[in-house]
Formats: sequence, structure tokens, C-alpha cells
Amino acid sequence: MDNCIFCKIAAGGIPSNTVYEDEIFRVILDIAPANPGHCLILPKMHAADIFELDEALVGKAAVLAKKIASAVKKAVKADGINIIQNNGAAAGQSVSHYHVHVVPRFNGDRVQLNTEGKALSDEEFAKIKEAIIAEL
Ligand code: AMP
Ligand code: ZN
Repeated sequence: MDNCIFCKIAAGGIPSNTVYEDEIFRVILDIAPANPGHCLILPKMHAADIFELDEALVGKAAVLAKKIASAVKKAVKADGINIIQNNGAAAGQSVSHYHVHVVPRFNGDRVQLNTEGKALSDEEFAKIKEAIIAEL
């Protein structure tokens, strides 16, 4: 993808703070971290989002997320870690190249990720459950 900034970063064409690299992924420090140590896992092959990414790579990204999360947790002495992966503008995705956020969290930090849960009726739960099951 000629115009994709994460393709260029993943390929090494644009400098980045790389903490890990193998044949499939590059892991960089986020340029605007939620907390120090916030990393992004980038596949070198372009896929806009999880729906485009090869299933085997989704699995490999999850395994790598665990490895990076463990290293970040120790390196910055984090109290917790969020692993976040946004798909689509409505979900907060701003760069259309699949990436996994590994975000260190500290007790009392003011990073905002949670929203209040919606109240659904039993009927609404039943309907949405059946709709999802029908798509699997
Ligand atoms: P998302 O909103 O899930 O698409 O996340 C995109 C992330 O990429 C944001 O956290 C940005 O701060 C980060 N980002 C954007 N451009 C760069 C860049 N050139 N180098 C490192 N991180 C970047
Ligand atoms: Zn790309």
C-alpha cells in the first residue's frame, strides 16, 4: 500500500522507535502514548483491519501481544495492561492498517477507555444473541 504510513513504518522506510521485529511484525512505540511504554504491533503485510487480516496472523499477533505486554509490564513497572485493537472509524480506528495497542496502566492513571454499560431488556439480549449466533 503506497499511501499507508504503517506499511512504510513496518517496512523500515520511516524511522520509528522499534522495540521488536521479526519477519512478520514490527513493534513500535506509539507516537502519542496513553502512558509511557504504549506499543503498537504492526504486521508488515498490509491489512486494513481484523476482517482483512489472515486468520493465522491474527493468532500470531495475539501471541506476540502477550510477549510484548509481559516485557512492557516489567519495563515500566505497570500495574495492568490493556490490549486494544480498533476496527473502523466508529470504533476509534484512525490508521487503516491493522494494529494492536499494548497499553501499560497504572493505579489511578486517568486514561479513559471504559464507558458506562447500556441497559438492555431480556428481549433485547435474546434478540442480539440469536442474531450473532446466526452469523457464526
Ligand atoms: P488507532 O486509533 O487504533 O487507529 O491508533 C492509531 C495509533 O497510531 C494512535 O495511538 C497514534 O498515536 C499512533 N500513531 C499514528 N501515527 C504514528 C506514527 N507515525 N508513529 C507511531 N505511532 C503513530
Ligand atoms: Zn498498510
